[in-house]
Amino acid sequence: MRPHRFPVACVRCGSYEREKVQNAAREAVKLAGGFPEIPAEVLVKANLLSPSDPSRAVTTHPEVLRAMCLLLSESGAADIEIADNPGYIFRHQEAELLQKTGMRGIQDENLAVVGLLSRNGFRDVSPPGAVSLKTMRVSESILKSPCVINVSKLKTHVETEITGAIKNMFGISDTDTRKKAHGMKSQAFLLNAVIDLFSVRVPDFCLLDAVDGMEGNGPSHGAPTRVGWIAASRNALALDVVQACIMGYKNPFAIPLLDIASQRLDGPRSMEEIDLKGVGWEDLPVRGFRKASGSIRMIPAFLRGMAHCLVTLYPRLERSSCIKCGVCLRVCPVQAITMDDSGFPMIDTRTCVLCLCCHEMCPCDAMKVRESLLSRLMR
Ligand code: SF4
Ligand code: SF4
Repeated sequence: MRPHRFPVACVRCGSYEREKVQNAAREAVKLAGGFPEIPAEVLVKANLLSPSDPSRAVTTHPEVLRAMCLLLSESGAADIEIADNPGYIFRHQEAELLQKTGMRGIQDENLAVVGLLSRNGFRDVSPPGAVSLKTMRVSESILKSPCVINVSKLKTHVETEITGAIKNMFGISDTDTRKKAHGMKSQAFLLNAVIDLFSVRVPDFCLLDAVDGMEGNGPSHGAPTRVGWIAASRNALALDVVQACIMGYKNPFAIPLLDIASQRLDGPRSMEEIDLKGVGWEDLPVRGFRKASGSIRMIPAFLRGMAHCLVTLYPRLERSSCIKCGVCLRVCPVQAITMDDSGFPMIDTRTCVLCLCCHEMCPCDAMKVRESLLSRLMR
């Protein structure tokens, strides 16, 4: 039975100073109604999208994850694992990922084991209610874990507008599943795929690292900005609605991802169904927060090739930054990228569906997002 209202707690946190983060996280968890019963084994799904310094706001900050580990230990967890399956990380890059994101320190303190969600392989699942992905390959660790805690990062996203608690669970899948989700015909396909994956393993509790967030064209190469909140909820959709309010959306349910989520998931269907704790709605928005450019989302994917460079955001290589690593070629869901004789990537604009995965996963920010004049005028 649906609860009448879905509690979300939002607590001020002005920096990543250890004590401040711990106090804010503790208060947020308490105001949100506390954890469900915590078993000995817990898996924390962080956002570890790429080997990035925490100051870039690409990944969940290590101080927030550290605070979460301490709270879980106090609640009975004895065996905590922090994990993610970043967009395109090879096993040999795991050490770099853990070092750069600050996860190594958490492991060295024996607070948690930290690693890749691919560690125990993937399993094919075909849930009956799936809309886009009839079959998905999902991390065995996630499927087996008796308790999943979702610790997301407040960021913009060029395709889904926001990435928060719901989108963070996209990372439980393998690379081929993500390519399938990105490479298909419509935005609705991708958004339903995000919800399909979320529904495979609904997290037991969600915490949002919004001390610093990412504005502009996230989720990899936007700009870090001070936001000043830690938020928590048992309900991911309710938490994402509050995140959207922080980012300045007046009607979060108009964001297509949240609109579809509200139709398919257990969660609020209006702002009135959210019980906001610790703060007033009017206190949430960050003044001047820059959202992701939106024009790409207005174009059906099958028209995107034709519309390339006209009314959309599109990828454009900046050769001077490219290290010819080939990640963009491997991550492209429709094989629109080949390497030229000099080893630089070339994009076939007729094949490209403008998903911007190459931009998102480029380790050097060499695959820039360009925005056409018409697109800028449409904003
Ligand atoms: S554009 Fe980026 S991902 Fe592609 S080859 Fe160059 S550096 Fe690698
Ligand atoms: S070239 Fe880049 S934007 Fe185009 S389909 Fe491939 S990954 Fe997506």
